[in-house]
Amino acid sequence: MKITAVTTLVCHARMRNWVFVKVQTDQPGLHGWGEATLEWHTREVVGAVEDLAELLIGQDPTRIEHLWQTMYRQHFWHGHGIVRSTAISGVDIALWDILGKLHGTPCHRLWGGAVRDYVRTYCHLGGGRMEDFYETAPSDAGRFADLARQAVEEGFTAFKAMAVPETVPIEGRRAVRYAEACVGAMRAAVGEQIDIMIDCHARPSPRMGHLFARALEPFGLYFLEEPCWPEHLKDLAEIQRAVATPVATGERLTGLHAFRDLLELRACSVVQPDITHCGGLTVARKIMALAEAHQLAAAPHNPQGPVSTAASLELGFASPPYVICETVHADVPWRHDVVTEAHTIEREGRIVRPHQRPGLGIEINEREVAKHPFQPEVLLRTFHADGSVGDW
Ligand SMILES: [Mg+2]
Repeated sequence: MKITAVTTLVCHARMRNWVFVKVQTDQPGLHGWGEATLEWHTREVVGAVEDLAELLIGQDPTRIEHLWQTMYRQHFWHGHGIVRSTAISGVDIALWDILGKLHGTPCHRLWGGAVRDYVRTYCHLGGGRMEDFYETAPSDAGRFADLARQAVEEGFTAFKAMAVPETVPIEGRRAVRYAEACVGAMRAAVGEQIDIMIDCHARPSPRMGHLFARALEPFGLYFLEEPCWPEHLKDLAEIQRAVATPVATGERLTGLHAFRDLLELRACSVVQPDITHCGGLTVARKIMALAEAHQLAAAPHNPQGPVSTAASLELGFASPPYVICETVHADVPWRHDVVTEAHTIEREGRIVRPHQRPGLGIEINEREVAKHPFQPEVLLRTFHADGSVGDW
């Protein structure tokens, strides 16, 4: 069997352009779907997939590890830059989909079978609707509480909010008070049984991250995500040592070596590889093994499109450290028109049980995708009060 084509389909989903990667084979009807969504870098990724195609056409798609090594190591430049790594990830996910389809079995069974009866999912406040998740004012604790109640009413037992405002390297009490008020309001609204995650979006400096972590510790967060830039692994480690709250990070790291460095420093308690960026399912599975060796939790980053979600769920069914799957469901109303999925999210508890459909269990509706051609992503930029540049 040979790979005959590697192409991308771009689907404009408002805040993101979903980049679907289709790998076709010379076996009639056998193709795989991957995803290489990288918001604000869509055209670069499409070009990077084109570059990779030259290495892949004519190759045996079932030699996934060999092809991964080829994509990562050939042509001199190693493939851990975010664009190349995302392109590699998209192809790699599609190759696993092909392998599952070839053997008539879901991916998680290729990896040793289900290790759990179901995967739990969590949502973003507002279900991933851009305005609710990214633009609720940090001064509006009441709105955070309303959206938290809504998530629980929709059946979720866990949700994530961005309740930490943008800050300059040091600030007075106001920003920390805002965060305390928002998290306090959400905790009061949903009670002790619901898991609350706070994503700092790597906005704070290491010192501000430390202050936020300390201030939010009494609220018993399920985890605190990216309390400072992922470039500062030693600072992440110090924040983790300073609080009992589990620190989560990893969505912007690519390549196995980056996760080795993170884990060697004991810099987090929850690893969050993004399967569409870290190097695909091939690397994500190795990260799961690293996490298992350190007895850490894994909660892959997944705010993108439906192929990314299917890949994350398959990984979750087969990986012991996996604790929860990130999902968005309200980013665009036609999300479910562009894909048929094998999995169902049960409303009660928002859990997903393993399915039996081959590969990732999905099929992309190319005609529907064509209705949403590329458009530049919504510009979401951050400037501080004095006009200086902040982190979005
Ligand atoms: Mg995040």
